[in-house]
Amino acid sequence: MLNIDLHSHSRVSDGVLSPSELVLRAHGNGVKMLALTDHDEVGGVSEARKTAAGLGIELVSGVEVSITWAGTSIHIVGLHVDENDPVLVERLFQNRTGRMDRAKRMGERFAALGVQGAYEGALGYVTNPNLISRKHFARFLVDSGVCPTISSAFERFLKDGGPAYVRHQWATLAEAVQWIREAGGIAVVAHPGRYKLSDVALHAFLDEFRQLGGIGIEVVTGSHSPDQYLYFARLANRYGFLASVGSDFHAPAESPVDVGRLPDFPCPVEPVWRDWR
Ligand code: AMP
Ligand code: MN
Ligand code: MN
Ligand code: MN
Repeated sequence: MLNIDLHSHSRVSDGVLSPSELVLRAHGNGVKMLALTDHDEVGGVSEARKTAAGLGIELVSGVEVSITWAGTSIHIVGLHVDENDPVLVERLFQNRTGRMDRAKRMGERFAALGVQGAYEGALGYVTNPNLISRKHFARFLVDSGVCPTISSAFERFLKDGGPAYVRHQWATLAEAVQWIREAGGIAVVAHPGRYKLSDVALHAFLDEFRQLGGIGIEVVTGSHSPDQYLYFARLANRYGFLASVGSDFHAPAESPVDVGRLPDFPCPVEPVWRDWR
């Protein structure tokens, strides 16, 4: 199968590589088609596209939109969105506002838990002034010796419902799908196996997503176990969703899967790129 990776981050959100460095790394790993999908940001796409063109990589303009559905934080990936669409850019900007206030409140939670200076510490890792995420707190916790690993920082403090987690009201599912479609893109559910939803709730979510015009789900991702690859491949076929693949790469030596280093689909599926050119 062609080496395709349709979910990755740069320092324009909470990755650590510049868009160009990310594309170079993908190229070194043999990637032929790469989507840059920064959180609520398309600002890195044009740089990535330029670098990709010189290397013969097909760059897919993407975005990972944060939403709140039934009180749960969920991510919707948009692929082939027009990164120059001013309406999309403004909508994403609006969805990012509130991150600083939330981060300050997380800092207060940390202080109450005995970890001082977490907000200021996390700020030190921020590379886009209006995109502070839990990942930045996790990097601070690891580098300051509070937690041994990023995943343990999430497990102990930052995971949904964790002691330092502050819930945030992001866009609605309907908004995210509409924004992506109106910018010419297709909507894909990011890492569906990561949400703490019951089976009933997951199915209700997927039904609603499909009714709104969503057409795909990630099947093979850095956030899924091999068992989940198969589970979500079958689920995609059952629902008639297209299947996507993406590492969710953020940083060397941090992300569980490097860019372009995922296995093939575990069984026949209709891939999201089926109808692309
Ligand atoms: P936020 O948008 O601030 O809620 O933070 C989301 C960020 O946290 C994304 O980069 C996720 O990939 C990351 N994240 C969420 N859960 C985990 C986890 N269990 N381990 C590592 N990173 C996570
Ligand atoms: Mn992230
Ligand atoms: Mn995500
Ligand atoms: Mn992601």
